[in-house]
Parts: sequence; C-alpha cells; structure tokens
Amino acid sequence: MSEKIVLDEEFTEKTSDWDESDVGKRIAKRVTPNGTYFNEIVVQVFCQFCASEFIGPAREAGGFLGGHECLHAWEISQAIGREDGLVE
Ligand SMILES: [Zn+2]
Repeated sequence: MSEKIVLDEEFTEKTSDWDESDVGKRIAKRVTPNGTYFNEIVVQVFCQFCASEFIGPAREAGGFLGGHECLHAWEISQAIGREDGLVE
C-alpha cells in the first residue's frame, strides 16, 4: 500500500481538443482572451434541431447551444416568412 492515491483523477490536463474521455472532468485552469477560467467542467451537448455535437468547457457549451438556437430560430422565421407569401 505504498502507492499514492490519485486525488486529481477527475481533472484533465488538456486545454483544447477534448473528447469523450474528458467529459465530466474539470479543467484546473483555462486562459482565454476574455478571462481565465478555473475548475471548469467538460460537458458533452448536442443541438436538438440539427444533431450537431459539442464536447468542451461548460462556458463554450452554452455558447454552442445558444448559437445553434439563435440560428435555427432565424431559419424557422425565414421559412415561415416564405410560407406566408411575404416574398415580393
Ligand atoms: Zn443546430
């Protein structure tokens, strides 16, 4: 019983290029032009409209979901506009 117990098992050393093996782990420190993120968790999300997938920090996942939601809302509004015969 001389081996050390790994206490940081839930952390990933990666600061980019995350994949399925990193989901649920935390990034101890991530430096971006907008600020420095600490202890951020890596999540896997997908877009329910077009099935695009994303794996990465929670902050970026929020941007992914918000960006897709915004785009698809715009696409829907364009489609409705055409169906209503609003094109000149
Ligand atoms: Zn989408």
